[in-house]
Amino acid sequence: MSDKNQGWSQRTRLAQALGAMDETTRGLVPPIHVTTTFERDADNGYSSGNMYGRPDNETVRLAGSIICELEGGADAIVLGSGMSAALAVFHALAPGDHVIAPRVMYWALRNWLATEAVRWGLDISFVDCCDTRAVEAAIKPGQTKLVWLETPSNPLWEVSDIAAVAEIAHRAGAKLCVDSTCATPLLTQPLALGADLVMHAATKYLNGHSDVIAGAVVTAKQDEFWSRVTRIRREHGMILGPFEAYLLVRGMRTLDLRVRAACASALELAQRLEQHPSVAQVLYPGLASHPQHQIALRQMRGGFGGMLSIRVKGGEAAAIATAAHVTLWKRATSLGGVESLIEHRASIEGAGSPCPTDLLRLSCGIEDPQDLYRDLDEALPR
Ligand SMILES: *Cc1c(COP(=O)(O)O)cnc(C)c1O
Repeated sequence: MSDKNQGWSQRTRLAQALGAMDETTRGLVPPIHVTTTFERDADNGYSSGNMYGRPDNETVRLAGSIICELEGGADAIVLGSGMSAALAVFHALAPGDHVIAPRVMYWALRNWLATEAVRWGLDISFVDCCDTRAVEAAIKPGQTKLVWLETPSNPLWEVSDIAAVAEIAHRAGAKLCVDSTCATPLLTQPLALGADLVMHAATKYLNGHSDVIAGAVVTAKQDEFWSRVTRIRREHGMILGPFEAYLLVRGMRTLDLRVRAACASALELAQRLEQHPSVAQVLYPGLASHPQHQIALRQMRGGFGGMLSIRVKGGEAAAIATAAHVTLWKRATSLGGVESLIEHRASIEGAGSPCPTDLLRLSCGIEDPQDLYRDLDEALPR
């Protein structure tokens, strides 16, 4: 982009995919690069910088460069899922390294840490990461190499203080990686707050249309650890496919609109449901009643996200019955798409989950919030 374009806002640049287009035809939509291999030069070199499709791909690079710019990073890679993005970071550690992870976090990743990561020799402590003193107390001097945060965290939407935890991690010589999937790059900027790495399940808000599984990792600086993360994507064959990368780029053009709509609906629903006679509690960082609302006000800008949870009066049976009675909300796992989803999380998480059994997780899409409220109101117990 020319110098004149440097002053455009994030929203403007996103709409035009940072100005990417097809230079050959002047087509406004960049092409999908599908080749798996590239011709060598006569002098035996690879002057284009491309050699093979597993290490990198131009369409995937474009998706990565947009995410990198959104997060204000030095580099970013896009992978085949959010889980592979997270695992690329954990695999860059060495056996014996100690990791601090949140007590409340994305269930599948927590499960992997508790079962598989320990078999690879990682030492994992699950800590209440909303309590900075608990994080500090969990540090093992010389051994703690990574602190992992998720904020707001699934499915209780706890908020942790990224800047404070970054300081604790750095004092101990550890890195901080933030799973910022639910905050999106629009609402929170973990790198600016001191994090070293940001991870996204791009499956969710970044793509936004429930038709791509993808993940991303962004780094604040190009160091040896980052070289290991990128090498793991390359050698473990974790790169995203070019068709999915194309859909991801297309989805990100409307990220700003979608996230703003979801945030507005989530806040409105949270406020109305807090008054509902059949709702025992609403968990949403935008409510004054939320225990970390002050941190959310400081750390999030432009909204508190599109995710909230409600605890239904009458317990587990009443919660499951509510999910059974909605018609507009879809009973499905996942989040961050244009269609609103409802899920009884305890059923999917199972033993050891910190999720209460009366909890329903709500992912607000972009439908009319009046319709979303009416559908829930009619489904909740009378
Ligand atoms: C979905 C999700 C993941 C995992 O992403 P996949 O693309 O499903 O592998 C990780 N963290 C959070 C917060 C998520 O919501």
